[in-house]
Amino acid sequence: MKIFNTLSRRKEEFVPLEPGKVKMYVCGPTVYNLIHIGNARPMIVFDTVRRYFEYKGYEVNYVSNFTDVDDKIIKKANEEGVDSEVISRRYIEECKKDMAGMNVRPATTHPQATLEIDGMLEMIRTLIDKGHAYAAGDGTVYFRTASFKDYGKLSHKNLDELQSGFREIKVTGEEGKEDPSDFVLWKPKKEGEPYWESPWCQGRPGWHIECSVMAKKYLGEQIDIHAGGEDLIFPHHENEIAQSEAANGKPFATYWMHNAFLNIDTNGHIQKMSKSLGNFFTVRDISERYDLQVLRFFMLSAHYRSPLNFSAELIEASKNGLERILTAAERLEDARKAAARREDAAGRAEMTSKEQEHMAAAREFAAKYEAAMEDDFNTADAIAAVFELVKLSNSTVSVESSAAYIDGIRELLKKQCDVLGILTERKTEALDEEIEAMIEARQQARKARNFALADEIRVKLLDMGIVLEDTREGVKWKRA
Ligand code: AMP
Ligand code: ZN
Repeated sequence: MKIFNTLSRRKEEFVPLEPGKVKMYVCGPTVYNLIHIGNARPMIVFDTVRRYFEYKGYEVNYVSNFTDVDDKIIKKANEEGVDSEVISRRYIEECKKDMAGMNVRPATTHPQATLEIDGMLEMIRTLIDKGHAYAAGDGTVYFRTASFKDYGKLSHKNLDELQSGFREIKVTGEEGKEDPSDFVLWKPKKEGEPYWESPWCQGRPGWHIECSVMAKKYLGEQIDIHAGGEDLIFPHHENEIAQSEAANGKPFATYWMHNAFLNIDTNGHIQKMSKSLGNFFTVRDISERYDLQVLRFFMLSAHYRSPLNFSAELIEASKNGLERILTAAERLEDARKAAARREDAAGRAEMTSKEQEHMAAAREFAAKYEAAMEDDFNTADAIAAVFELVKLSNSTVSVESSAAYIDGIRELLKKQCDVLGILTERKTEALDEEIEAMIEARQQARKARNFALADEIRVKLLDMGIVLEDTREGVKWKRA
């Protein structure tokens, strides 16, 4: 299996620290609002990486944090007149709902920064003792960047250039720094901010130290994979490496994986989707129009290191693509039921020789799928292989097919979709009831001669992909 490693800027063969195990840390969101679909990209991508490792038989320890102490959370809490904790707790819950909708499995552990302060104080103490950090007069503790000889190895930046760059920008309140490229490990509280006691001042941790400490606590000093969006390479991940390696005296992560941005066209400019630019859609926005499976499928339709532009057309195309897979899966189920009925009578389940040939072709598509995933998780090519299988299935499976052939195709399709986190069964039950209830409401509206409302309901159903037919036996409905 090959993984593109940001450290070496090359694809490298994956060799785990411990045979059969993967220790993986993915930087999670800062919880002050609903997540947007840019934040969803690393969640979906690295959940898929995890699923593929599991499919290959690895035991994966997957840790992803929630950053629950941050200026933005504090600002939002002050606006609402509540504690920061109220805000972070609310948006952690909302984030978990979105993750469930996108079929992103919960991490093995979801640590929260505010519950790990002791570990942070301990690592900062170690860094000071080893000469890698110092406390300034106001109680701020800084990492002494120049003391870590490998600083810049991840982002491929040179410390001298960084220092001169930083010298241009004078930040007020950071006069206590020895060097402009030093960064904060601990900072004094300001009025109205949450704080913790420490040997240096009452205050709170810097963002970077949180991840170094949580990775160490839940995965150990050395981990296999550290991942996140590419905006985290510098300074966040560069600083994590400096802290962890200086404190532990060991290489931190073997592989550094970064997803490219989800972009959006903003007034003719293609830009990164972000909260600060205000050009975002939340996952919740999307869920109002689409099943979040569609969003997941959309994200995986590109390679994770390629920029992906969000547009109404592309999400619509993903919806259609996903629909093709679901329809094929449904046809397989129907054919399987027919085979079971027939074979009860005929007692035959073996493949015909023609079916054996088709099965060999199907296995080739499966091999293509796996080769794509082995090549740095190329989900775009993997999905192309799924479509080849779907096409074969549609053209060769019928109610006449043998149970063995149907089962063979069905198993391959299911396995491939499972790894991508795509459910092959439609979530029909609840939906059926909902549709039925809406149709009943439309009938009532018509009876009351409220045709505007009746029409509104019909359009709404159409949006959900439901077509109504008024027949003599009453209203019938079908999926478009
Ligand atoms: P944040 O809440 O900003 O710390 O982001 C959480 C995660 O989402 C990080 O891994 C970011 O790199 C990632 N992220 C944020 N915006 C985007 C985007 N537009 N495209 C891809 N990843 C993003
Ligand atoms: Zn992090």
